Amino acid sequence: MIRDRETLNVLLDTVRRFVAERLIPHEPVVAESDVIPDAIIDEMRGLGLFGLSLPEAYGGLGLTMEEEVLVAFELARASPAFRSLIGTNNGIGAQGIVIDGTPEQKQRWLPRLASGEIVGAFALTEPGSGSDAASLATSARRDGDHYVLNGTKRFITNAPEAGLFTVMARTDPRVKGARGISAFVVERDTPGLSIGRPDRKMGQRGAHTADVHFDECRVPAQNLIGGREGAGFRTAMKVLDKGRLHIAAICTGAAERMLDDALRYAIERRQFGQAIAQFQLVQAMLADSRTEIYAARSMVLDAVRRRDDGEDVTVEASCCKLFASEMCGRVADRCVQIHGGAGYVSDHAIERFYRDVRLFRIYEGTSQIQQLVIARQTIKQGG
Ligand SMILES: Cc1cc2nc3c(=O)[nH]c(=O)nc-3n(C[C@H](O)[C@H](O)[C@H](O)COP(=O)(O)OP(=O)(O)OC[C@H]3O[C@@H](n4cnc5c(N)ncnc54)[C@H](O)[C@@H]3O)c2cc1C
Repeated sequence: MIRDRETLNVLLDTVRRFVAERLIPHEPVVAESDVIPDAIIDEMRGLGLFGLSLPEAYGGLGLTMEEEVLVAFELARASPAFRSLIGTNNGIGAQGIVIDGTPEQKQRWLPRLASGEIVGAFALTEPGSGSDAASLATSARRDGDHYVLNGTKRFITNAPEAGLFTVMARTDPRVKGARGISAFVVERDTPGLSIGRPDRKMGQRGAHTADVHFDECRVPAQNLIGGREGAGFRTAMKVLDKGRLHIAAICTGAAERMLDDALRYAIERRQFGQAIAQFQLVQAMLADSRTEIYAARSMVLDAVRRRDDGEDVTVEASCCKLFASEMCGRVADRCVQIHGGAGYVSDHAIERFYRDVRLFRIYEGTSQIQQLVIARQTIKQGG
């Protein structure tokens, strides 16, 4: 749903210019240093990028999901590390509070997340529980007006810079599955919370993940999201439904960038006396990529419009994440191929993007998990 086309166009133009003039020129330095310069982060704050999808009442821009993905298509044209920094505040690091938080929880934390004063993170995955998230072992024991958390979370995006964590922990050890899980908001400086060394990843330098450890970490009972025990897994799944649509939009934007780069190269690069873009076998790679990008874009727009209309889009979100992330991988592969040897060395952005986009098929539910979600619901609906 687009509320005001004119205002949205101004925002999209601003983001497009910011990406072209500020983010893309900074890609090499971020890849080299593994750090996003403070000046760029300040500009992101100034543009409201940390609060795109957070409610206006709490200082965000309050974008609808359709408006949010249109911004995401643009942002994703730059190195995914930039998007990753603002991604958790708009998505998994804040939506638990937005969707299921109490009015007090929203009032307390959303304004600081929306302004980018603090970075949010989402801590579900553990060393022993990834795809099987409902088997998580981190415990939250009630002790007076506190819960005491113990356990380790793994691969947590933005953990090194986060000021606030949404943490899924088991409040009822007798219940093994999803129903024993609750969601908490945990502030960074809570005694007993510590962050491991940043992980050394395949790509997305400038975006960081790390373990988060809880050792007798005492969290006030009022930080239990929604004030209800046992609802945390449902909260996490609702957050991921939205997150999967956002990631699908990011995959689409990243694929568009890679195709643009490959097309430019194909027009400039000459072999056998002509531009390689003249060869039909190269044209096939361009055409297949453009077709798949268009399909992903159409799917994402259809799904987010339905979500804005209040439909349950769990299956559509999985379809979008599955198709768009796999598509993005195929486009990355073809675009390296179009660059030939130049695609394999780091002078061109495509070498970096090829590694960066590999993650999209893994996090927020692997492709296999999306297939399971889609198949289960399809069979259920068919029955
Ligand atoms: C860079 C990065 C950032 C991340 N950020 C976060 C974050 O911010 N917060 C967070 O909580 N987590 C985060 N994650 C974790 C991510 O969501 C998990 O890595 C992912 O869900 C897969 O879990 P796993 O790594 O344990 O793999 P596993 O679950 O062990 O899966 C291994 C393989 O087995 C397959 N598999 C597993 N179960 C089945 C099945 N039933 N049927 C068929 N195949 C199956 C998987 O698809 C995969 O191919 C991040 C991970 C990375 C790498």
